[in-house]
Amino acid sequence: MARYTEAKCKLCRREGTKLFLKGDRCYTDKCAYDKRPYPPGHAGRMRKKMSDYAIQLREKQKVRRMYGILEGQFRKYYVRADAMKGHTGHNLLALLERRLDNVVYRLGYANSRDQARQLVLHGVFKLNGRRVNIPSMMVKPGDEIVVREESRKIPVIGEAQEVIARRGCPEWLEVDGDNFKGAVKALPKREDITFPINEQLIVELYSK
Ligand code: SF4
Repeated sequence: MARYTEAKCKLCRREGTKLFLKGDRCYTDKCAYDKRPYPPGHAGRMRKKMSDYAIQLREKQKVRRMYGILEGQFRKYYVRADAMKGHTGHNLLALLERRLDNVVYRLGYANSRDQARQLVLHGVFKLNGRRVNIPSMMVKPGDEIVVREESRKIPVIGEAQEVIARRGCPEWLEVDGDNFKGAVKALPKREDITFPINEQLIVELYSK
């Protein structure tokens, strides 16, 4: 499956914000962005005035990289969001949030979306009783995600309750760490996504 191979910390520095791509490391003083909060490369520290287009592009790249999605697939999400009722930007973020790999991450069963993707690919979870291995699957209200019995000894799975205590679980999801479960209570709303994103800039970029 195609995915990013570029150094993750460089992506944070490029986008000018912490994207939390490396799990626990992101919360320690080893975070490369905290140490060098400017873009990589020789011209990294030079202040440049950005055009409107560049600002829109950077916002799109930031969100795309945060969720670990390649350009073609990201654009497909945009087209789908645009065809839905309501605000295109909000629809886009809701679609990204509903991906199974993101849900596994949000439920605390992985330290990063990348790790969540690997766990899903390895068939660690059941969705509504069936083993699944497609990270881009969309969850819907009423869905239940369960860690398969054979996978419950994986260290990161056992740490889920600790992770959730630290990170919190969004309102639209419910986690039952004792029973290695999670449930989708509702569709994600805009206010459930607390990471600073200006989705209108992405809409403006793709509407050109
Ligand atoms: Fe980004 Fe995490 Fe690397 Fe910090 S440690 S730069 S937040 S990926």
